[in-house]
Amino acid sequence: MTKNVIVLGAGIVGVSTAIHLQRRGRQVTLIDRHQPGNGTSFGNAGLIQREGVVPYGFPQQLGLLARYAFNNRIDAHYHLKALPGQLSFLARYWWNSNAKRHAMISKAYAPLIEHSISEHHDLIEASQAEHLIRKNGWMEIFRTAEKRDAEFAEAERLQKEFGLGFEPLTASDLARQEPDLNLGFVGGLKWRDPWSVLDPQALTAAYRRYFESIGGRFVHGDANSFGRFGAGWKIATDDGPAEADEAVIALGPWAATATRRLGYALPLGVKRGYHMHYSAKGNAVLNNTMMDAEKGYVMAPMNQGIRLTTGAEFAAMNAPKTPVQLDRAEAVARTVFPLGERLDPEPWMGARPCTPDMMPVIGKAPRHEGLWFAFGHAHHGLTLGPVTGRLVAEQMTGEKPLIDISAYSPQRFNP
Ligand SMILES: Cc1cc2nc3c(=O)[nH]c(=O)nc-3n(C[C@H](O)[C@H](O)[C@H](O)COP(=O)(O)OP(=O)(O)OC[C@H]3O[C@@H](n4cnc5c(N)ncnc54)[C@H](O)[C@@H]3O)c2cc1C
Repeated sequence: MTKNVIVLGAGIVGVSTAIHLQRRGRQVTLIDRHQPGNGTSFGNAGLIQREGVVPYGFPQQLGLLARYAFNNRIDAHYHLKALPGQLSFLARYWWNSNAKRHAMISKAYAPLIEHSISEHHDLIEASQAEHLIRKNGWMEIFRTAEKRDAEFAEAERLQKEFGLGFEPLTASDLARQEPDLNLGFVGGLKWRDPWSVLDPQALTAAYRRYFESIGGRFVHGDANSFGRFGAGWKIATDDGPAEADEAVIALGPWAATATRRLGYALPLGVKRGYHMHYSAKGNAVLNNTMMDAEKGYVMAPMNQGIRLTTGAEFAAMNAPKTPVQLDRAEAVARTVFPLGERLDPEPWMGARPCTPDMMPVIGKAPRHEGLWFAFGHAHHGLTLGPVTGRLVAEQMTGEKPLIDISAYSPQRFNP
C-alpha cells in the first residue's frame, strides 16, 4: 500500500523534502499556514553557497568580542533583554566555535555542502527554473590589505582541503568586473563554484509547482493542530483533517515550538536578519552578489532590485523589528555603489534557524515512530534544502543515504 506522508512547513527545506518523497512513491501532503516560500526562504541573500564548508562560528578573540559589546556594528546586533533566554544556546555555540571543534564540525559539514549545487541543479531542471539562476559565483571585497591577505590564505587552505575554486581579484580586476563600484577597495575574492538565485521565493514556488505536477498536494494548515492519530499523524487543514502514516517537521525557525509540543528539548536558537531592495541610480549595474567583508553586509542583484541583507541579530524571535543593522549597512553601501531609493514599504525580517553546533538536524525523531526532523540550517538553508530533502527521503524509504548522515542526527542533542 502507498504510504502517506505529511510534510509540515513549505520553505525550501520542506518543499524539497516533499519532492523527494513524492518521487519515491509516497503520497505527500505539504502543509503550511502561508504560501510556499514565504517564511525565511523568502528573504535570504540568494546564495547557493558551495564554498560554505566552514559554518559561521561565534567569535573567539577577546578583542573582537569587546567590539561587539558596543552593539554598534552591521554584522551583529543584540537585544540585551533577550540574552538571558539565549544563554544556553550561545554558550554552547561559543564552545563549539573553538578552533579545534570548529575544524571537526567543518569536516562533518562539508559533505552536505558538497552536494548543494548538484542537488539544486536536479530540481532546477525538473522545475524549469533556470531563468532564476546565475552561475557566476559571488565575491568578497576588501578595504585593507591585511583582511585581503588573511582571506586569500584561508581560501587557499579551503581550496587544498575541500577542492573549492576561487579567483583573487586585484583592485583593477574588481573595477573591470564591477565598473559602477566606487574605488577604495584593495581587491576581492571571487568564489567560482556557488550559484545565486534571482528570487528565492520564486524558486521555492517553482519547486512547489513541480511537486504538484508529480502528484503531490499542497494545503494550508496550522502546525499547532498537528498530533498523533493512532499509529500515524494528523493535522487540521483548510481542506479538512489530513492523516498520514509518517510526518516530517520542516518548520525552519518555528521547529522549536513544534518539537517542544511533542516533548523534545532541542537547543535551538535564531539569528534574525533583514533585507531591503533598492533601485540603482542612472544606468548603474551590479553584476555580482558581493559581501563588504570588513563591514558584514551583502548586496545581491535580484529581480526585485538590489537586495541588501544584514548579518545576525540576537533577539527573541517574535520581538518587534529593530532594523538598525540595515540602516547602518545602507549608509555604508551608498558610499560603495550608487543605490537609489528604497523599493519596499518596510524592511523584511527573517530568523535563521540555528543549532549550537552549526549543523542542521536531519533524521528520525528519537522518541516517535514515523516522525522525522529537517530543520536548523542557519545561514545555509537555501543552499542545503534539496540535499536535505533527498537525505530525509532516502532514510524514510530505506535507501542508503547519499552521504553519512550520523553527524546531523537529532540524537546528538539527547533531546
Ligand atoms: C538575511 C538572511 C540572509 C540569508 N542568506 C542566505 C543565503 O544567501 N544562502 C542560504 O543558503 N541561506 C541563507 N539564509 C538562510 C536561509 O534563508 C534559511 O536557512 C532557510 O530559508 C530556512 O528554510 P526552511 O525551509 O528551513 O525554513 P522556512 O523557509 O522558514 O520555512 C518554514 C515554513 O514553516 C511555516 N510555518 C511556521 N509555523 C507554522 C505553523 N504553525 N503552521 C504551518 N506552517 C508554519 C512557515 O510559514 C514557513 O513557510 C539567509 C537568512 C537570512 C535571514
